[in-house]
Amino acid sequence: MNRQEQKRILITGAAGFLGSHLCDRFMQDNFHVIGMDNLITGDLRNIEHLFKLPNFEFYQHDVSKFVHVPGQLDYILHFASPASPIDYLQMPIQTLKVGSLGTHNLLGLAKSKSARILVASTSEVYGDPLISPQSEEYWGNVNPVGPRGVYDEAKRFQEAMTMAYHNFHGLETRIVRIFNTYGPRMRLNDGRALPTFIAQALEGEDLTIFGDGTQTRSFCYVSDQVEGIYRLLLSDYALPMNVGNPDEMTINEMAQEIILATGSAAKLVHKPLPIDDPKQRRPDISKAIKILNWEPRVSRGEGLQKTIDYFKALPEEELKRKDF
Ligand code: NAD
Repeated sequence: MNRQEQKRILITGAAGFLGSHLCDRFMQDNFHVIGMDNLITGDLRNIEHLFKLPNFEFYQHDVSKFVHVPGQLDYILHFASPASPIDYLQMPIQTLKVGSLGTHNLLGLAKSKSARILVASTSEVYGDPLISPQSEEYWGNVNPVGPRGVYDEAKRFQEAMTMAYHNFHGLETRIVRIFNTYGPRMRLNDGRALPTFIAQALEGEDLTIFGDGTQTRSFCYVSDQVEGIYRLLLSDYALPMNVGNPDEMTINEMAQEIILATGSAAKLVHKPLPIDDPKQRRPDISKAIKILNWEPRVSRGEGLQKTIDYFKALPEEELKRKDF
């Protein structure tokens, strides 16, 4: 493919979990990929294998400040944001800023380059949902001033601003509502249940369950999530779209599966539930099935095994870090 035909894509949050997998996916498909990240929760090791490739560039930059990228851009994926509860509780202002100012900066950049932009929203826009499964038409049940409000409301604002650019400026926009996704390159100590359980099981420690463990989550393997995002970007659908795995399970069941898969002798120990923790989470993905012809393909057993193998291959001292 010659340079004229090669599509150029900017991916913010490129050094993070999802952003780095998206960089890989677009590199494989012969895009020129420009990664951008301020590294507040990301890790350059996630993308170091791309640095030697001619079609990859990286800028260390905070997207809540003015964003400039030289040259033409065809697509923008805005994935920069603290994403786990531990991260956004420690960085509440940065979280609000990247969802609001950061999104505004990137929408402006998309407009100036006539690029199509996809923003990463979240199932957290549904808050502690009063209906299940959650379809895109559900408006949610969010406490704006609770501890999680900094993330949930930043993402709700992000969606509103994105739709305003679409409706008012005619910008080509896409909004993906991502449900819990897991896989290699998650951080062991980011406070999310799945990596914490795996780290505890591999270290032979008891698994910490918040609450009685009957709250449910639905976990999507990262390659399925990336495929859904890829198809949404290339579709002509501008309204928000759920992408996740509807295979719902309780936190207790997930912990038991991890104990089995790691061969650990660990037990479950219970701690109080954090404020506003959602009791259930399950996507209605009928739109993604119909419009994107997309469905998750990776079974939980296979996805868990790949994730456990990734964590097992980490240096021993990383597993031993006790800050989870
Ligand atoms: P992550 O923490 O691994 O990655 C986020 C990346 O964004 C990090 O590399 C971080 O350094 C970078 N970043 C944060 N603020 C920035 C800023 N101001 N400027 C530049 N870079 C900045 O998290 P993730 O799980 O990969 O999440 C990526 C995106 O997907 C986030 O927007 C998140 O809200 C969304 N999301 C993720 C999930 C999930 O299950 N992983 C679920 C719903 C939504």
